[in-house]
Formats: sequence, C-alpha cells, structure tokens
Amino acid sequence: MADSQKVYDICHDGENSIEVEIVSDLEFNMLDNAIQAAILQESNAASSKETDNAAKGAVSANIPAPFDRFRGEKGYLSVSNLVAQFWCEQQMEYNFLIPEQKPNTEEVQIGRGIHLAREMELYDLMEIKIETKEDKWAAIFMDCLTKMALLDAHQTVREFPVLGEPFDLGVFVHGIIDELHFNEIGQLELVELKTRSGIGRLPSKAQQKRTFLQTMLYSVMFNNLLSGKLDVASVFTRLQLNGDAILSKDIKNLADQHRIQCDTLFQVTDLALRRFQSSNTPQISTIVVEYFSQVKNKVINRLIMDLDEDWTKSKLNTMLSYWTGKRETIGVEIEEAWKCQRCEFADICEWRMKKDEECRRCGDNTK
Ligand code: SF4
Repeated sequence: MADSQKVYDICHDGENSIEVEIVSDLEFNMLDNAIQAAILQESNAASSKETDNAAKGAVSANIPAPFDRFRGEKGYLSVSNLVAQFWCEQQMEYNFLIPEQKPNTEEVQIGRGIHLAREMELYDLMEIKIETKEDKWAAIFMDCLTKMALLDAHQTVREFPVLGEPFDLGVFVHGIIDELHFNEIGQLELVELKTRSGIGRLPSKAQQKRTFLQTMLYSVMFNNLLSGKLDVASVFTRLQLNGDAILSKDIKNLADQHRIQCDTLFQVTDLALRRFQSSNTPQISTIVVEYFSQVKNKVINRLIMDLDEDWTKSKLNTMLSYWTGKRETIGVEIEEAWKCQRCEFADICEWRMKKDEECRRCGDNTK
C-alpha cells in the first residue's frame, strides 16, 4: 500500500458503530513514536516529581533500578550497553525505551558485512538451533574452548566471547573481542576493527575514548578469565542458569564435532573456565584499533593503545551507579552538546531541554 493511501472500514453495529482506519506502516510508525514519546514524557515527569522529594542525586525507591528494568531478564550488561552509555547515558536509555528509533543506516549495515567477512576468513559459519538460554551459553563456552586451543597454538582468533565482573563492581558484563593475535615480540594483542564511511580522517577524540573503554573492558575480562577470577557458581547465579540442564541435540552435536565431552551446561562451563586457567596464553598487553575505510575497502589507520585499568575502573564505577539505581540518568554536558546534533532523540530529550533552559537563564542573568 502506498504511504499516502488510507483504507476506511466502517463496522455498523447500531449505536455502537465504530470507524476503523487502517493506516500505512509509515503513518503507524509515526503515531507509535508520538505515543511512545508522550508515555516517556509522562514517565519522566512522574520520575522527576518523585525525585524532587528524594535526596538530591538519589533515585526514588519506587522506581526499579535500570539494570532490573532493562537487563534484569538477561542478567548481564553487554559491552555495547556500556559503550553507548559512555557516549550519552540519556540516549542509551531512550534506545531502551523507544527501540524503534534506533538508526540502522547503510553505514552500519556495511560495517556489519565487513566484520562478518573478516570472521569468515578464518571460520566457516554454521547455523545452530538454540532452544534454551542454557543452550546459548553452552555454545558460547564451547566457542571459548575451541578458540583457547587455537590461541595456545599461537594462532589468530576472531569473535572471541568474554564475560565476567570487571573490577568486582557487582555487575556481570559480556562482550565479543574482534580479534586476538600474537605480535612480532610474542605479546598477545587485542584488535578492534572500526569501519569508517570516510576515506582517511581519524574519528574524534570522544569516539576514540569510547573505543578505548570498549577494548579495555574486553581486556580486563579476558585477563581475569586467565587468572581464574570467574567461577562456575557465580556464572549460574548472575545469569540465572540451570547448570544441570541437559543440552539440546544441536548443541550436543556441536560438542561432539569439537570432541568436547559434555551433556550439561555445568560440564561445558566448568571445562571452559578451567581451560582458561591452564592455558599458556599470556595476558593481553596491547590494544590496537584498526580503522577500515568502507570507501577504500582497506585499513587506513592503526592506533596502538596502552592498557589503563585505573581509568577504566573509575569510568565503570560512575556508569554502574546509574544501573544500580543510585543516581538519576544524565545526558551530555554543555561542552559535548555537539553530540545532540546527530541524536535521533534531540526533539524529545528532556535533558537537552533542561540544559537549554539553564543556558537561557544564565544568559538572562548576565545581561
Ligand atoms: S539530545 Fe543530547 S543529551 Fe539528549 S539523548 Fe541525545 S545526545 Fe543525549
């Protein structure tokens, strides 16, 4: 149906006649977004009202913590959640509340294709039927097992899953490392691939910092796994998994293919965590960010970064206080207001409106 077309269907039922208007997808999305924005404004208003009564900076006990609201079911934060939050916490929250507005640009799709092509240079992809969340995590731990064996043989691995509780800050995190390989002096190097639509310029300092946080989280979790800082019991508790769950047929077949002996999630998790600890692979000591031009179809820049655990811990600590409900959501500060110009929530963003108002009042007072 063309976007401008409308179909009217009238149900005649005596006095209770109703008129049903069937609208196009585009119109429906517009209406839906408007409704979501209205709901959001109402919920924000309620939330700020409650907050006015609470201590400054604290959140009312009546509102569930963001972790419970947005990630409680999964039991962990993804590194992508944290990276999005680092860019703008308010924007990340809107993405949870109004997911339809999340952009899926051509640039993002091309980027995904490049990542997939890189992965397929090393592996054949296979489809597996995942029946339960225990199956999903069993597949992840099998992936860890097979890739650790490759690393121990000094081979390059891609799409390496990591998980854990960085710096013991009470929140479980999961992510996937683009690439791990050994450099010419035998150090283990983490490579993060970033695709760019341009032909040569490096991204802004803010984007570089965001990538640094991302790669640091991966490094800390990987190194913790090697040091045995993650145990089976906490994995099951945090992710609310049943260790005794019998793995489904597809997952069992996958295990057989890789000669991994397991019938339950507990067995494969235990094997994987012990495999990390007995590995001869060194800890990650260098981070490399490769910028790949979508136009030139090649790597155009490589940035080498040193690990900085103190910086990462302090950033994560600040970010987690949002997730655990210890403070209100914050948006970007005035120096970074340029981020709002490309934000899909700029028209409805309460934080931005509040900051605009503050600026106006500031201007009035200085006249
Ligand atoms: S408009 Fe600015 S402050 Fe608001 S969500 Fe977007 S980037 Fe964040």
